Amino acid sequence: MNNEIEKYRKKVFKTIEKYKLIENKDRIFVAISGGKDSSAALSLIKEYIEEKNLNAKVFAYHINLGFGYSDRLEEEVEKICDSLGVELYVTNVKKEFNLNILEISKILKRPICSICGLIKRYLMNKIPRELGATKIATGHHMYDMLINYYKNLIHGNFDWNLKILPKLKSEHPKQLTKIRPLIFAYPHENKMYCEYKNIPITKISCPYSPNFCCYLSRREDYKIFQILEFSDKNFNNFNLELIRGITRFNKRIEKTIEAKKENYMECEICGEPTNQKICGFCKLKLIYQKQNMDNKISNLY
Ligand code: SF4
Ligand code: ZN
Repeated sequence: MNNEIEKYRKKVFKTIEKYKLIENKDRIFVAISGGKDSSAALSLIKEYIEEKNLNAKVFAYHINLGFGYSDRLEEEVEKICDSLGVELYVTNVKKEFNLNILEISKILKRPICSICGLIKRYLMNKIPRELGATKIATGHHMYDMLINYYKNLIHGNFDWNLKILPKLKSEHPKQLTKIRPLIFAYPHENKMYCEYKNIPITKISCPYSPNFCCYLSRREDYKIFQILEFSDKNFNNFNLELIRGITRFNKRIEKTIEAKKENYMECEICGEPTNQKICGFCKLKLIYQKQNMDNKISNLY
């Protein structure tokens, strides 16, 4: 194993250990998109469990969004999971929930990515939990977190920045703890690791994301991405030090924040945890169903 890979692996394993991301009896579900980041997270979690001989299991979870390319992507995700020897679970948004993300985005006049994100967040908690997950892992890396950090500062969403942590503890019996083992990793390190391990990551990109990665599809995100790249080129390890500082601060005030947290309630329709009477996912479904019904009625006349 070359030095760079060894250093990267050690860094990720140290994050897992320090923040107790994986414990005995855990059933970790990794949300996998087919790209380098989630594939690296899946592979490293498996390696960690095996190396430490833990009594824990890892599974992959993929959401088929029902876009033109989604079935092909699902096949590629299957190949990744086969190559890593990990069991895969898939949810098909169109077939299982009768939801068409494109149509919903048109009806609500909201960006596709915002509808897509809401649906993914909902399913990533509900389905793995119903399958017996104890935690859900994502492939979020340092740049994902720092882009969000700057955006939240700019737009005044200061509380959201307190969630920039390697582990977000569950706040409700129906809410899974979220873990981010790659929070201190650079995106290029994830790519390098996947190449080294010969993981067959996909080259398919979402058609609604012109620059391949979700965050690069938005203009503001792209500008911040360029600032991060500039910092890394000119100030050695600046971004790594910054994300470490943010997580250290958030960890320190975690207990104070927990004491002030509002209680989650359960959605009156689906019973999932939410801070409103009806969760965002059920609201989407109601509007979509109503619009479909209206269209059917107007077609009768
Ligand atoms: Fe969903 Fe990402 Fe595609 Fe946006 S770019 S629609 S968030 S998969
Ligand atoms: Zn609901």
